[in-house]
Amino acid sequence: MVRKPIIAGNWKMHKTGPEAVRLAKQVKVLLADASGVEVVVCPPFPALYAVSEVLRGSELALGAQDVFWEEEGAFTGEVSPGMLKDAGCLYVIVGHSERRHILGETDEMVARKVRAALRGGLRPIVCVGETLAQRRAGETKAVVEGQLRSAVRGLELDDPARLVIAYEPVWAIGTGENATGEQAQEVAAWIRQALADELGADAAQAIRIQYGGSVKPNNIAEFLRQPDIDGALVGGASLDASSFAQIVKG
Ligand code: PEP
Repeated sequence: MVRKPIIAGNWKMHKTGPEAVRLAKQVKVLLADASGVEVVVCPPFPALYAVSEVLRGSELALGAQDVFWEEEGAFTGEVSPGMLKDAGCLYVIVGHSERRHILGETDEMVARKVRAALRGGLRPIVCVGETLAQRRAGETKAVVEGQLRSAVRGLELDDPARLVIAYEPVWAIGTGENATGEQAQEVAAWIRQALADELGADAAQAIRIQYGGSVKPNNIAEFLRQPDIDGALVGGASLDASSFAQIVKG
């Protein structure tokens, strides 16, 4: 099974509309000739529509950073899958550790969001990962598997390649301290095994697993050469067009 690598940039809560448009234009120019890799940029909600206009006609895909599980109604502040589709999104990040740890998102909420995203025709990038305390306590496998199984259990996927998993050790996010390729591969292999248990061997082989956590131009190659790692979810370095382009070009 050949899995197409996927590199996604999570802009988090950075960039106003005009700033996001400028960054998207720079990324589009620098990656005009990129091939063999799927590239996604995930600006904040207010910039989605404007960035989708910039990306129109390019190979770059648009993603959101979160989604709600209902399609419409009295849910102040929330954004539905249909609204994201309408704004031009193909992907959506679900269960990012900042949402789990700062905003109290639970495994159950993440599972609902994954289902709603798929139902709405979006492709979820589902984030899982352990904290430093959990790693030190030897709980990495149990924590990551627990988050993953809850997010994917019972999914019926006609095209498993629409689901992406991002392994993001919390201690490596925004800290400058990346996991080693070996550490990331060990967890990615557990993830693929758990995907096989939950969704079957064929689906597990088709689903792409990203590594995320202080990915930079100088360490991306170490991750991409691991057999179970099929790309990266990039935070800080995706805010600089030339760093992001270098990461995409490997
Ligand atoms: C992220 O936000 O998903 C992330 C991995 O951030 P950073 O690359 O800055 O560590």
